[in-house]
Amino acid sequence: MTQLLPALPTVDKHYVDRGRYPRGVAFMDGQYVPMSEAKISVLDWGFLHSDATYDTVHVWNGRFFRLDLHLDRFFQGVERLRMKLPYDREKITSILNDCVALSGHKSAYVEMICTRGSSPTFSRDPRQAENRFMAFAVPFGSVANEEQLERGLHVAISDTVRIPPKSIDPSIKNYHWLDLVKGLFEAYDMGAETALILDANGHVAEGPGFNVFVVEDGSLRTPAFGVLPGITRRTVFDLCAEMGLPATATDVSRAKIKAADEVFITSTAGGIMPVTRIDDSAIANGRVGPVTRRLMNLYWQKHDDPAWSTAVIYRSSE
Ligand code: PLP
Repeated sequence: MTQLLPALPTVDKHYVDRGRYPRGVAFMDGQYVPMSEAKISVLDWGFLHSDATYDTVHVWNGRFFRLDLHLDRFFQGVERLRMKLPYDREKITSILNDCVALSGHKSAYVEMICTRGSSPTFSRDPRQAENRFMAFAVPFGSVANEEQLERGLHVAISDTVRIPPKSIDPSIKNYHWLDLVKGLFEAYDMGAETALILDANGHVAEGPGFNVFVVEDGSLRTPAFGVLPGITRRTVFDLCAEMGLPATATDVSRAKIKAADEVFITSTAGGIMPVTRIDDSAIANGRVGPVTRRLMNLYWQKHDDPAWSTAVIYRSSE
């Protein structure tokens, strides 16, 4: 049920973000602004050095999905990067809520970001930088479109190696994406729709914005090493526990994934998404498998369940 809030900061409701900006609302420097006005300084280390962490949570039918887990991961990342947020958890929760409420979106992609910022004296010492928090809500977007969700994605395994965990801790959600983007271009060159890239030991790691699972004889496996511990990945473990399916995080070789009964990828941007082709080979019979379908159904059912989701508090319509 939609709850009402008496007074929220306002954004001109007649404002239409033109062309290059998705319709949405951002929070920056203490203000709510349309996406077209959400801008950062070119001197921010977040931009200059990818010195930032972020998290993305989605809203589906007016409810945040697993917001607490996303906030936990975000706060942990901020701490590990030795940054300081100007707001506490309660305030950030209300900012995220207000970005969604002001945008009016019932299904949204909601991002919270902390950048190193820059120092008022232009010092090169990161300890002197003033860290910045920002957030935004735009329409929900998915790695896979409707047709791909129905028939399964075509993925290519690229030879690009994921940046090693000893260099960048993958549990800190980050914008070090050059390896992922390189992999994506290689995948397009191979005629595929997205990419999987390898870890330093030659095992499958993850893709641009998603984790991966294989199903073999009713058991699930997902790469353990050098990957972002995705909230959707964690959700698959939780769903498997409910469904009585064994699931483990372990090494997944190139050969193993190609010989799997089923393969799917997981992301906040799209949920559980089937893969039916890897490089030149079909996975099993080339159709979306039964375990993937059951997991997809249960995953979306959980979006209405108060144990897994929280209602956005929208203001009354004017
Ligand atoms: N791996 C990477 C590199 C990502 O950037 C993401 C999400 O953006 C994921 C995995 C999936 O994580 P989640 O399920 O929390 O969206």
